Amino acid sequence: MGRQRHQSGGDGRLTSRRQPPADLSGQAVATRLVHAGRGPGFSDGIVNPPVWRASTILFDSCADLEAANASPDAQLYYGRRGTPTQWALEDALTALEPGAAGTKLFPSGVAAIATALLAVVKTGDHVLITDSAYEPTRLFADQVLKRMGITTQYFDPAIGAGIETLLRAETSVILLESPGSLTFEIQDVPAITAIARARGIVTMLDNTWATPLRMQPLALGCDISIQALTKYVGGHSDLMMGSATATKALLPRLKAATYRLGHTVSPDDAALALRGLRTLAVRLDRQEASALQVARWLAAQPAVDRVLHPALPSHPGHDLWRRDFSGSSGLFAFVLKRGTRRQLAALIDDLQHFGIGFSWGGFESLALPVRLDGCRSVTTLPFTGPFVRLSIGLEDPGDLIADLDAGLRRYEAQF
Ligand SMILES: *Cc1c(COP(=O)(O)O)cnc(C)c1O
Repeated sequence: MGRQRHQSGGDGRLTSRRQPPADLSGQAVATRLVHAGRGPGFSDGIVNPPVWRASTILFDSCADLEAANASPDAQLYYGRRGTPTQWALEDALTALEPGAAGTKLFPSGVAAIATALLAVVKTGDHVLITDSAYEPTRLFADQVLKRMGITTQYFDPAIGAGIETLLRAETSVILLESPGSLTFEIQDVPAITAIARARGIVTMLDNTWATPLRMQPLALGCDISIQALTKYVGGHSDLMMGSATATKALLPRLKAATYRLGHTVSPDDAALALRGLRTLAVRLDRQEASALQVARWLAAQPAVDRVLHPALPSHPGHDLWRRDFSGSSGLFAFVLKRGTRRQLAALIDDLQHFGIGFSWGGFESLALPVRLDGCRSVTTLPFTGPFVRLSIGLEDPGDLIADLDAGLRRYEAQF
């Protein structure tokens, strides 16, 4: 018995070489979600890529090993570089963003954000981050980047072209998040990216709320588009993963940082994320419609001060949202006219259809009392009442409204 040989792919089907992704740019997004990442070389005809578990990849000869060393991204090389299971997910995510050259996967959304930043920054740099950013993004900048001698400055998410006044010679990155995932401000992304491009400053955007189905950051001039796949792509509250999708100019730096930091995701998790991706369009359509129904109902309740949902015309960022997004998702918040955050327990604790917990984007609804301590440094919010963030799931929206109605009555009975 000789040494174990790896598949040579001689029949042109099952192969260990990475296939160039098919060009799906002419397809509508719902169609692309079905076809993306399904090259024949990944699966030998099986609809989904099998879960290829690997650390060691065996080569036929020393000459083959040498050839692989010259282009480790072009074939199976070593488990940390991925197998067709992870490649399929990367290629599928790349196919959803016009202007994208490639995608890297990370063990969480936070790891995707941290790595995208580390791919670009160096000691002495100045980084601009929206004041509405996800709290762990702030903590990474305030603690890790700070220790590296990098200065972070937060800016008003409504700044738009005014960002120009904050730029310094050392500014290397502008990090956007639109809408903010607690307070839902919409940013003028094209105004900011146009100024950044002209000065050679890299822009990256946390697109977890919209997913590429509702907004495409690279098409709006960003260099790197980031998602917590944990949320809508996973969609079933059982997966942690992040992704960063980059333009041709930024992909080499993103890849290098990913490999140098040792990031990899398991093929089992990649298969789960791919499964989630296939149904993303139908889930998002349903969650968008239900969330709008619940949001409009809440906006008409006397106890409610305002609803923070960019698809409502009352939202201050509504016009920008209409211009740059093709729809909304299932996450929004509502503010109460009176009371304290502590008193929100009367509303939330006995809800029947809303779980209390972090994360969002799953099939099940969640309600979260929002705590903004430590989440803001240069802006204040235009309201003072306590507020609740809702992630609307796949339940019947009538049931959700009846549940919230009873919750609001419990809340008001305290006064
Ligand atoms: C949850 C979340 C993240 C981080 O994702 P994890 O997978 O939990 O690390 C990043 N950005 C936003 C907007 C999020 O909501």
